[in-house]
Amino acid sequence: MAIREKAKKLEQTLRTLEKKYSRTVLPEGDTLLEKFVFYLLFYGNHVTNAKKAVKALTDPDVFGDWNEVRVATVRELEDTLTEHRVEQPSVFAARLKKFLQYVFEELDDTALESVATLKPEKAKKFLAQLEGLPPWAPTYLLCALDMESMVPWDPHTERVAQRPRIVDPAAPLAQRKKVLRAALQSVGEPDEDPLRLHHLFVEHGKKTCHEEDPKCLKCPLADDCDWHQRRSRGGSRTKASGNGVEPPAKRK
Ligand code: SF4
Repeated sequence: MAIREKAKKLEQTLRTLEKKYSRTVLPEGDTLLEKFVFYLLFYGNHVTNAKKAVKALTDPDVFGDWNEVRVATVRELEDTLTEHRVEQPSVFAARLKKFLQYVFEELDDTALESVATLKPEKAKKFLAQLEGLPPWAPTYLLCALDMESMVPWDPHTERVAQRPRIVDPAAPLAQRKKVLRAALQSVGEPDEDPLRLHHLFVEHGKKTCHEEDPKCLKCPLADDCDWHQRRSRGGSRTKASGNGVEPPAKRK
């Protein structure tokens, strides 16, 4: 499929997913740090719980500001997260505190926007050293700072890009990433935002396009999804392999 066709398919996919999940799943917050903490919470939790947890963390009557969150105890953070039904609150509380401490020590502030004042190589090095974050987090932050155009590549994004064949699952990883970026850039403004794509694909991966037993019958992409069509022809509901990219083999 040529890039123009992929771009068309991608554009339709993004519009369909935005309609299904609404814009509430898109990056949200007044500052980059707020947006990023929302993203980290949203990744493993229901979007409503993620929003409520961020609201509590930024509530002047609870912590005051991000520096107060940084100096709060892990137990205090854990209690706030537990109140808003965040999964694994103790793990997230410890990671958040460590992350804020590192940012504060390196930038003398908790405002992540100042990373944009660093030279690109130094900014990348700084973000790569952030502890306790998923491997695609530095790309996410670079995108948010307009210093990167690649889409953050996590298991959900990979699966949702590959199953409907927006990218070819058999191609090398670097090529798949480049094709997704090229297709997205061909979509053009205002839809070429890599973080909009990433948030929508993550939500689709969390809610519908699961690695195993995706809910294809409830998926608005099903009519144009290679994986679903192949599985339907196979008629099997056995487990998918790998990141769920290959559909189950046809029964003989
Ligand atoms: S049809 Fe199924 S496999 Fe295809 S994108 Fe939707 S949920 Fe995923």
